[in-house]
Amino acid sequence: MANHHQIVIIGGGNAGISVASKLLIKNSKLDIAIIEPSDKHYYQPAWTLVGSGVFDIRDTERTEAEVIPSRAKWIKQKVTTFQPEQNTVTLGDGSTLSYDFLVVAPGIQLNWGEIKGLTETLGKNNVCSNYSFDVAPYTFETIKNFKGGKAIFHNPHTPVKCGGAPHKIMYMAADYWRKHGVLDKADIHYWSGAAKLFAVKKYEDTLLGVCERANIKLHFMEKLVEIDGANKRAKFVGFGDNNKDKETWVDFDMIHVTPPQSAPDFIRQSVLANAAGWVDVDKNTLQHVRYANIFSLGDASGLPTSKTGAAIRKQAPALVENLLSAIAKQPLTASYTGYTSCPLVTGYGKLVLAEFDYNNEPMETFPFDQSKERWSMYQLKRRVLPWLYWNKILPGTA
Ligand SMILES: Cc1cc2nc3c(=O)[nH]c(=O)nc-3n(C[C@H](O)[C@H](O)[C@H](O)COP(=O)(O)OP(=O)(O)OC[C@H]3O[C@@H](n4cnc5c(N)ncnc54)[C@H](O)[C@@H]3O)c2cc1C
Repeated sequence: MANHHQIVIIGGGNAGISVASKLLIKNSKLDIAIIEPSDKHYYQPAWTLVGSGVFDIRDTERTEAEVIPSRAKWIKQKVTTFQPEQNTVTLGDGSTLSYDFLVVAPGIQLNWGEIKGLTETLGKNNVCSNYSFDVAPYTFETIKNFKGGKAIFHNPHTPVKCGGAPHKIMYMAADYWRKHGVLDKADIHYWSGAAKLFAVKKYEDTLLGVCERANIKLHFMEKLVEIDGANKRAKFVGFGDNNKDKETWVDFDMIHVTPPQSAPDFIRQSVLANAAGWVDVDKNTLQHVRYANIFSLGDASGLPTSKTGAAIRKQAPALVENLLSAIAKQPLTASYTGYTSCPLVTGYGKLVLAEFDYNNEPMETFPFDQSKERWSMYQLKRRVLPWLYWNKILPGTA
């Protein structure tokens, strides 16, 4: 059957490619198809460094053809619907594809349109965002051209990929302005839809110190609903006990926006979704809770951990082992513990390497206190991790 594959992987991003490569290393005879509509693959973690002016945006992009394993078949389509009872998915051109096993990894959806006025002004009027390949270089333009006034950094009320990214760029901007004698003239504000700065206290304590040294003012439980780019003002609505429904218009000289995010619509609307819209998998085995031949990992999965590439590095080997066990009709024994990591740049040459598990307990790699800002960890992010991504993680050997 031409339209059948033993394993079908949805998404040729960080998760989908890592899993395909690892499976083929274990067994080169597996029949794997990757459904991926885009020509391009992005190393998104470096976009924070692009926005900080220390990484070339062109080095974050490769063609999908370069990263898809040669022994996997690339189907250049998008999935639109699922029929798990029939073991089929429907593609954008209306055709169907059947599978023995399915891996669902289409990433997270960026809902730019949920903030009124944002799409019209993004990339101009000093409205920037590192969450877009096209706009991340403009973040640095904006930071460089800022000569004082009010700077806003925004974090939405939804889950996001890389929970640290909305504030990492704020610390880099503050350090840039300090180095260029602008910090005294900068009134920096962080407006966030979360209840606190960072989930793990050990690292949050350090970050609060970083905010203090740049005199950054923190506002929590605030939802950004509108941006008026031409008049440089943003509207927030409070939703905490103390500020519920309170509307605030804030003037700005620059604003860095992180779009609200959700599971992709075609997942949310499918029978694979949990109540929140994400793919409903067991948090340890990564197997779907209702369909035993479906697995999921990465940003689209319902795993209750912070959505990062670092988490995928630990999810992929567990998923691969369990998927191979399922093929062999053996019990699933591999378990993912919720490990995730956030390399929190706190300035040029400074980084706090947060690593933690499902219980927000630190799970550190190095034999020193990782809550301290370190030059060595900055070099890890700036030089080692990008190399590791292209040369080890995507080829499945790390
Ligand atoms: C600014 C920023 C900073 C970050 N910083 C870090 C960091 O420091 N450390 C870290 O570990 N992580 C970081 N991340 C997060 C990291 O990039 C993601 O967690 C990771 O890319 C998720 O991998 P994924 O495969 O789940 O999704 P993606 O890599 O986004 O890939 C999803 C793929 O699915 C495809 N797809 C979408 N819809 C469909 C469909 N209908 N059918 C088929 N395919 C589809 C897409 O085209 C895409 O290729 C950062 C992200 C951003 C944006």
